[in-house]
Amino acid sequence: MSGEVFACYSPIDGEFLTNIDACNEQDIHHAVLGARRSFESGVWSAMPLQERKNVLFKLADLIIEHEEELAVLETLDMGKPVSLCLESDIRGGAHAIRWFAECIDKLYDQMSPNHQGIGMITREPIGVVGAITPWNFPFYMAIWKVGSALAMGNSVVVKPSERASLTTIKLGELAHKAGVPEGVLQIVPGYGRVAGAALGRHSDVDCISFTGSHTTSRELMKYSSETNGKPVHIEAGGKTANIVFKDALNLEEAAQVSAQAIFYNMGEVCFAGSRLLLPDDEDFIETFLSKVKNYSEYWQPYNPLDMQSMAGALVDAAHLQRVENYVQGALDQGAQLFTGGKIKHPDSGGYYYEPTILTGVTPDMTIAQEEVFGPVLSVMTYQDEEDAIRIANGTDYGLASAIWTGDLNRAHRVSRAMKSGNVWVNCFHGGDMTMPFGGYKQSGNTRDKAFTGFEKYTQIKSTWIALG
Ligand code: NAD
Repeated sequence: MSGEVFACYSPIDGEFLTNIDACNEQDIHHAVLGARRSFESGVWSAMPLQERKNVLFKLADLIIEHEEELAVLETLDMGKPVSLCLESDIRGGAHAIRWFAECIDKLYDQMSPNHQGIGMITREPIGVVGAITPWNFPFYMAIWKVGSALAMGNSVVVKPSERASLTTIKLGELAHKAGVPEGVLQIVPGYGRVAGAALGRHSDVDCISFTGSHTTSRELMKYSSETNGKPVHIEAGGKTANIVFKDALNLEEAAQVSAQAIFYNMGEVCFAGSRLLLPDDEDFIETFLSKVKNYSEYWQPYNPLDMQSMAGALVDAAHLQRVENYVQGALDQGAQLFTGGKIKHPDSGGYYYEPTILTGVTPDMTIAQEEVFGPVLSVMTYQDEEDAIRIANGTDYGLASAIWTGDLNRAHRVSRAMKSGNVWVNCFHGGDMTMPFGGYKQSGNTRDKAFTGFEKYTQIKSTWIALG
């Protein structure tokens, strides 16, 4: 190892947590060589499927055995409430690993339907996968990549975000304990511009699986085009439109879920429902927004280590500043503050921001176009269904959208019109391991989860055998 380190501080109170190794180009090179060696040796890629499956089941068991430690680590590192970490990120992560493991011997290959020879269409692991992950769901995003790539027999090198690396490092340790052979899973913490770039540029990496901002995804595509042309699979940001129609079946529920859609995980969610689209009707808006405001109180941030806390700290001081700047920018452009808009607990040493609702937002404003990634809801109005669709689709993003309506025809019509990879009708956040997740436009070019999630980690081989 290079011996270089970077300091890790907790966003809860600004306290120093630990120093973490900062991998340099040489370290990444060694990790990739190790991954290549392990892949070619067949120690994992050719392991009998039942054995490979058992190792991943063991990993899921170990995650559950260490669930409290992992949840506390995640909370200390990136500030999200410990109860949510435990339930969604850690237990959800163990469940995802089991789901991927169960698929290992359920995915069959194919034969071509021709009569001239035998055409076999078989799936093989792609080889060495470089995974680069973000800080908002550090453990869970690492699990999506590691679980599906390992299930397919690949060797994986993971570069976690320098803003939240601790649980991914722990995942590497648990995988080793579970029996994942040496070199097959390596965690390489460090800075994006150094360690991430070295992984992206390495010519012995067969594909990059990236989750993060679309700015970084472009850098990765550039690295690929300058080196070995490896595929770069992207899961990027979003600007979800949450459209409420007057004919919604249950406006109380729609209001409650609209608050949850933006304030869950302090808004640090790629598919956060950051744009609330309401009909241009003053009475409707007043009634609906007062409900959303009441529900937003539930998401007031405080110490995320308290099991009752539903919202915690933003990831660091720079991100808090970014959120503040977006809100100020929106006010400067003519939006109005309906609630929130202030830093909370300024004496804590941590980074807390109130659930914030801005009204009078128009589609041309920066806040209506760019991803804030914080607890800030922009309320916009539409004239009719067509207008709502136009506004909803009017950004560079296309990760998700939501529709609240009691009209079945409208539900189908509008969900078909949405230019997004996920559409929720009369709900938000729906989906489990059986449903693919990913985006249109600048939100990405791939899908995680479900059987589609395996595709990027495999090669398809066509073998033609002549019949004599
Ligand atoms: P980011 O792009 O800043 O960083 C993501 C990762 O890329 C980090 O590990 C970082 O170190 C690395 N990186 C940064 N610069 C790099 C470079 N030049 N070369 C190689 N690697 C580099 O994103 P972030 O701030 O960590 O994450 C937030 C973003 O992730 C948001 O846009 C969010 O919407 C998105 N996200 C998307 C999904 C999804 O499934 N679509 C899920 C979670 C987060």
